[in-house]
Amino acid sequence: MLLSLRHHNRDLLLGVREARGLAEVAGEWLRRGVSAADLRHALTAHLPRNGVRSAVGFLRHRLTEKLPAEEAFHPPARAGAGAGTTATATAPAELVTCEGPGNTHVFRPTADETLCGTCRTNEAWKAHARRYDPRPEKPSVTWRQRVDEIARDEAVVT
Ligand SMILES: [Zn+2]
Repeated sequence: MLLSLRHHNRDLLLGVREARGLAEVAGEWLRRGVSAADLRHALTAHLPRNGVRSAVGFLRHRLTEKLPAEEAFHPPARAGAGAGTTATATAPAELVTCEGPGNTHVFRPTADETLCGTCRTNEAWKAHARRYDPRPEKPSVTWRQRVDEIARDEAVVT
């Protein structure tokens, strides 16, 4: 992304090593919820009229000066949580592949579940159905009994 800025403005030509040095700060922007398009805009809008003397210096300045406050995108960690666990408790969970049926799909687990919300709901319904709607039992009357019954009915009618 950083290397492509030169297409926007020739002054923003970066060397690969310079871009790599800035990538870490740029990644922090994305981590804070800024889209790549917004980041590009933040870096390329309102360029100095008399040109940029040092692309890397200019971009580093913009990246650090305009870095949005973290609080704007993530609510502050709950007070009272253990100091050691705060980081892991507030970090978004990794995406996990759902073990449910159908096409492979991923979800973000809240605990250590292996099914996504949709599949868990489906499973719950299936379990519910198994429990409360057992398969209809085979009719206990044999065809011979049935014939006898019909014969009896006919005898009554006639
Ligand atoms: Zn699923």
